[in-house]
Amino acid sequence: MKTRKIIALVMAIALLAVSMTIVAAAEGETASEDETAYSLYVHPTKKIYTDIECFDPTDLVVKDAAGTQYAYETDYQYFTFSVELDQPLTVYTSEIEIFYKGESCGNFPITVGHAGGEIVPVNNHSHGQICEGCGSICKNENHSVEYWVPDDNAALITSETETGTCTVCGDTVSRYIEGTATYTTIFADFEILVSLLSLVSMIVQAFALI
Ligand SMILES: [Zn+2]
Ligand SMILES: [Zn+2]
Repeated sequence: MKTRKIIALVMAIALLAVSMTIVAAAEGETASEDETAYSLYVHPTKKIYTDIECFDPTDLVVKDAAGTQYAYETDYQYFTFSVELDQPLTVYTSEIEIFYKGESCGNFPITVGHAGGEIVPVNNHSHGQICEGCGSICKNENHSVEYWVPDDNAALITSETETGTCTVCGDTVSRYIEGTATYTTIFADFEILVSLLSLVSMIVQAFALI
């Protein structure tokens, strides 16, 4: 009799514990579903931008926990974004957070590059492009010269230089002609010889005076 009572009590406690666990688990699920009430279902088509463009949510569809879909095309008044749609993007923006009825649906990754613009010389070696969006000089590239014209300044001491016009930015670019470096080297050797000869001649003259 006593054993039966104990078994009944143990079973009752076990049943209570199990039912409490089930209730807790159900509450946990409800809480996590609330957190992700809306999620991204179809991503916007446009993913690559320049910094003169604004975010374009065309083709965006989100869905709620029950699976009901809401398209930007029909429900646009309920959508908001971490960057306003009339605000040009910057190269520092790598994702847009999408909200439906004020609730986050998730982040959508995008790529923003500099917009092309006027090409300007940067220095004797390169030219860049002034970005129409942010005004910074970007796309720094080497000058491209097709025809080099020698300036005929070559002498034993002076290296000859060549000048040319960059076909991209129109800047005048100059460079040394590699070959003339040997003239200078030869002359340097010649100069040492001259110095030695004059030294010898001085010594000879000194002896001659004695
Ligand atoms: Zn830019
Ligand atoms: Zn150039």
